[in-house]
Amino acid sequence: MSLRNKNILVVGGAGYIGAHMVRQLTHAGCGVVILDNLSTGNRKLLQGGSFIQGNLGDADLLDRLFTGNAFDAVMHFAAFSQVGESMHQPLTYYRNNLAETVALLDAMVRYDVKRFIFSSTAAVYGEPVAIPITEDHPCAPTNPYGNTKLAVERMLADCDAAYGLKYTALRYFNAAGADVSGEIGELHDPETHLIPIVLKAADGQIDHIRVFGTDYPTTDGSCIRDYVHVNDLAQAHLLALDALLEGGDSAIYNLGSSNGYSVKEVIAKAEGVTGKKIPVVEAPRRPGDPAILVASSDKIMRELGWTPEYDNLEKIIQTAWNWHLKQK
Ligand code: UDP
Repeated sequence: MSLRNKNILVVGGAGYIGAHMVRQLTHAGCGVVILDNLSTGNRKLLQGGSFIQGNLGDADLLDRLFTGNAFDAVMHFAAFSQVGESMHQPLTYYRNNLAETVALLDAMVRYDVKRFIFSSTAAVYGEPVAIPITEDHPCAPTNPYGNTKLAVERMLADCDAAYGLKYTALRYFNAAGADVSGEIGELHDPETHLIPIVLKAADGQIDHIRVFGTDYPTTDGSCIRDYVHVNDLAQAHLLALDALLEGGDSAIYNLGSSNGYSVKEVIAKAEGVTGKKIPVVEAPRRPGDPAILVASSDKIMRELGWTPEYDNLEKIIQTAWNWHLKQK
């Protein structure tokens, strides 16, 4: 793979997954421009490249960006991603995740940049009818967040047909963990994701962790998810980028570990990693949550040779704990 001297626009590069991506792109020798409005991103997570603060909906800014740079590809991480919030504020999600992406694709087409990597999600599937979930599983999201991501995927297929825009949509399962350097990691305010909240509870920063739903049709009644290390996600993006730049066709891939863990199992593993007792409170279901999401990632392993390095949850939680401790 040679990505040296390729010029990549990373939208949302000051966010959790975007920052890990920028780090790997710069290590691979790419030139990186980051566009982020810092609405959920954080300057602390900037990892080189040149940073521009702004919105995708700012047409003048996009014109200046695309006039001033010859981008080989665009990677798009700038989305709101909280299932619960999306249930209460769907229009915020449609505006940010869908309308802003229309503006970005419109600029790409006008400036003839025809390679795009999109952060999609397991939430496009909704309640699974078969586990593990393969890419040809029916898509029926159970929340507005998933609807916005599926809408973008469909828009991308239309843009490929009409303009020859080639894209890879990567359907993430649950991104987790942190770079081993301890320099970057998950940093949301407020934090809503399971593993960072569990670690706050382990550390006494919050009193307890709430388990959202204990009456799901799973072995212990709590939701089952598939946790995949953020650096493995970023590595998959590099492979997808290389394939597109080599003339590859548009594609959709799942990115997960193929292992499912219940919320209660995650808490137990975190107790093992941290050596701390984690107080638990059972709480009602969070609206919009499917019971089980576990990926088959065979397609990207087979077609692009993706080999995740972090193959168990302890390792993933260990890197998150390392990052957590460095924040104190
Ligand atoms: N969850 C929980 N308590 C929390 C946060 C999350 O029980 O404080 C559950 C949530 O309902 C889901 C799983 O943990 O079943 C993973 O949620 P997260 O928000 O981390 O990711 P999502 O699956 O929504 O992408």
